[in-house]
Amino acid sequence: PPAFDPADPLGLDDLLDPEDLAVRDTVRSWAADRVLPYVADWYEKGELPGIRELARELGSIGALGMSLTGYGCAGASSVQYGLACLELEAADSGIRSLVSVQGSLAMYAIHAYGSEEQKNEWLPRMASGEVIGCFGLTEPDHGSDPAGMRTFAKRDGEDWVLSGRKMWITNGSVAGVAVVWARTEDGIRGFVVPTDRPGFSAPEIKHKWSLRASVTSELVLDDVRLPADAVLPGVTGLRGPLGCLSHARYGIVWGSMGAARASFEAALEYARTREQFGRPIGGFQLTQAKLADMAVELHKGILLAHHLGRRMDAGRLRPEQISLGKLNNVREAIEICRTARTILGANGISLEYPVMRHATNLESVLTYEGTVEMHQLVLGKALTGLDAFR
Ligand code: FAD
Repeated sequence: PPAFDPADPLGLDDLLDPEDLAVRDTVRSWAADRVLPYVADWYEKGELPGIRELARELGSIGALGMSLTGYGCAGASSVQYGLACLELEAADSGIRSLVSVQGSLAMYAIHAYGSEEQKNEWLPRMASGEVIGCFGLTEPDHGSDPAGMRTFAKRDGEDWVLSGRKMWITNGSVAGVAVVWARTEDGIRGFVVPTDRPGFSAPEIKHKWSLRASVTSELVLDDVRLPADAVLPGVTGLRGPLGCLSHARYGIVWGSMGAARASFEAALEYARTREQFGRPIGGFQLTQAKLADMAVELHKGILLAHHLGRRMDAGRLRPEQISLGKLNNVREAIEICRTARTILGANGISLEYPVMRHATNLESVLTYEGTVEMHQLVLGKALTGLDAFR
């Protein structure tokens, strides 16, 4: 058998074909060039300067709406999209969030449920990064239970008039288009809202201690008037947003392992070089136990992501399986980052090293796209047949 590779102890690269490797290399080198040298500074300042330029560059490497087909999208496989998420999140969860929201939420909604006119109008410019999209589902009083949303769209002649508030919306303040979910007389519907409409504003949410290199906003909808064709014709009910969330959660199954990998690598390097009591701390059994356990969970998680990706490509992936992946991989990723932090000692709390940034980012990833508890309840229901949500 080939030699043991500390970067790929299970030999998981064997699962990838040359095209997969090319996608991974492209995204990895983009992130190394355009994100890694700057991201600690962005994080410290709590901003993502040049986000429009970054979006256009991500568009040019095919990372926006990557696994969608047509309309300028790359038509990549789900595995390739996953690899891209992993590489982006190895740089920072905020950058992966930008890409997830653009591709898996805003573009996916239009691609899956939009009219031909809506797709032609928005998708090519979103795939190129010219237009940034956001996805408004969560409200101040309705997070895990979006069925109770208050945002309302009423008819006025042919037009729709949209009123309400959305909260914690990634990309909100920089978006040119918002996919907003609202209650109507016929149930929950999705609306494609150009953000320059009168009555629409998106103040940025400040004072975050997580995902600081990501734009997060409130969406304020004060009687936003939209033409009849602003509604997404293809879906009614929560099935709409949940379909998009499944796609984005799938990307997180991979992405979270990127944050974990970056933290593991930092810890391994540190353990090899930092000396205490006259020898490298990596030579102590307690440190080795930590590294071994981290490597086990990291590579199991990547294997799980790959398995789910293959099922998605085969059209056989169920939402409960995505819940299992998201629940496991984000929970293990945050554990890996916290353990890595201990190996770095005091340096572990410094932004000079990536681990604390990744660990605090993952606090958001643990909560958004369905909290840990929601995914436990999804699995609990699937296992027992009993609904414990309410
Ligand atoms: P709540 O739903 O109030 O939950 C609070 C706690 O109660 C959680 O631990 C939860 O698991 C628990 N809980 C709730 N119900 C139950 C139950 N039945 N049983 C057991 N425990 C329960 N939303 C968007 O729509 N678009 C975005 O782009 C977006 N981006 C985000 C970016 C960031 C940085 C963050 C932090 C959030 C973002 N969100 C976005 C919102 C996110 O999806 C919600 O925060 C999430 O769904 C949880 O909702 P909540 O915060 O209201 O918590």
